[in-house]
Amino acid sequence: MAIEVVPVAALSDNYIWLMHDDASGETVVVDPGEAAPALDAAKARGWTITQVWNTHWHGDHVGGNAAIREATGARITGPAAEADRIATLDRTVAEGDTVAIGGIEGHVLHVGAHTAGHIAIHLPQAEIAFTGDTLFAMGCGRLFEGTPADMHSALAKLAALPEATRVYCGHEYTVSNGRYAVAVEPGNAAARAALAEAERKRGEGLPTLPTTIGAERATNPFVRAGNVAELAERRAAKDAFKG
Ligand code: ZN
Ligand code: FE
Repeated sequence: MAIEVVPVAALSDNYIWLMHDDASGETVVVDPGEAAPALDAAKARGWTITQVWNTHWHGDHVGGNAAIREATGARITGPAAEADRIATLDRTVAEGDTVAIGGIEGHVLHVGAHTAGHIAIHLPQAEIAFTGDTLFAMGCGRLFEGTPADMHSALAKLAALPEATRVYCGHEYTVSNGRYAVAVEPGNAAARAALAEAERKRGEGLPTLPTTIGAERATNPFVRAGNVAELAERRAAKDAFKG
């Protein structure tokens, strides 16, 4: 199985993910906040986008949907619970549904908290998860539509995936998240090392992603929060944190 995932930097700090399956020739674009960089990156590799997967309705994740479909005929899949806010969906999915790239299945997980209907997609055979704005490297999304309890259960669901799973999230927030992680858990050597590595990569202009589920269990202060109250306290502190 040859699955390749390529980061496409977009907007100010978003990543659009291009995933290509050699066997079928399919290319999926995940969360295209804008069309041009995704279309250009696919073209540069000789790939044609066949599908779009959206994790949630925010414009920086769906803004490129219409133009990508126009250019390629790609079929667009996104969360059923947010179908009223994403006008471009061809197919709606909810937890328990599957999507596929060629012969490789992705399982849809409900992880509502950043937005109420937010989904993640886990491809167990490929050891890949797309987590949108729910689980970031050393961080989590802001609670725009959900509660700390919602985020706690969403992160628990993602943290329960196999630890080798590579995590592709929606934003390059790792250095800022890592500074908070080290501040809130000063004794966490894994978080210190992950922050140093992220700073080195950003210094070289490289993406810090993907991370892995194993790394997030070791470093992420929101995954590591012992209970809902601790997650709530940490989310509020991060919102105010000036690293
Ligand atoms: Zn968002
Ligand atoms: Fe976003």
